[in-house]
Amino acid sequence: MADRRTPQPDDDGAVAPRQRGGEVGRPAAEPYRPLREPRTGIGEVLAPVAGFGVTFASMFKPTVTEQYPFEKVPPKPRYHGRHQLNRYADGLEKCIGCELCAWACPADAIYVEGADNAPDAQFSPGERYGRVYQINYLRCIFCGLCIEACPTRALTMTNEYELAGPTREGLIWEKEDLLAPLRSGQLSAPHPMVAGTTDTEYYRGEISGPTPEQAEWVRAHRPDDPSLETVDGPVTHGATAASTPADVPAGAPGDAR
Ligand code: SF4
Ligand code: SF4
Repeated sequence: MADRRTPQPDDDGAVAPRQRGGEVGRPAAEPYRPLREPRTGIGEVLAPVAGFGVTFASMFKPTVTEQYPFEKVPPKPRYHGRHQLNRYADGLEKCIGCELCAWACPADAIYVEGADNAPDAQFSPGERYGRVYQINYLRCIFCGLCIEACPTRALTMTNEYELAGPTREGLIWEKEDLLAPLRSGQLSAPHPMVAGTTDTEYYRGEISGPTPEQAEWVRAHRPDDPSLETVDGPVTHGATAASTPADVPAGAPGDAR
């Protein structure tokens, strides 16, 4: 019987290292065998420069590098850029301060405080409006879950992507930064709702612009309001093709849904 402590030669004649008590013997190292056969002849001569073939072939292909920021290529229409708080056609805000967007946000990037509308301070149709609205772009991952959660389509995403800034505070966007600019013919809020309507007519897109009564109210309370200058034509109230509820029409650039 062979002595366990004495190394024994294997079939190749190699001698395994001595085993001590409790150790597992390490197999003898095999000689190196390359996976590919070494090149010979002309292949061996060209081998050092063969990798440059890819570089050389690329020199004759069209350049695809974008010279940002000197040339700005528009993103795709459904690109998720910065958010926008939309308005109805008469200028009232769509946000009702419900906080559903904040609850849907996986990054906890939205902060909303709702408040009650008042007869002399009606910011949105119905009872409530978003008094404080903040989005922290240091946290936002542009997933779009917030705009899916919004029941009034107050919140949409634009194609704007240049959001870098020198300060952390500057990347917390306030309601004033996010609110859609007034289009010509819209009255800045607050002002009363269109007479005889409820928030349902607004949600259905049946408001196509401010009424003379609304313009008169703004004139009486804020005579210097610049939005009065753009309210010129007659006012309509009723479903029209122009009264599409969304500020960002479905499928149009800026509509990220
Ligand atoms: S896009 Fe996503 S991460 Fe950004 S605020 Fe909306 S839900 Fe939050
Ligand atoms: S943006 Fe929409 S979901 Fe968010 S608080 Fe306003 S109404 Fe509610």
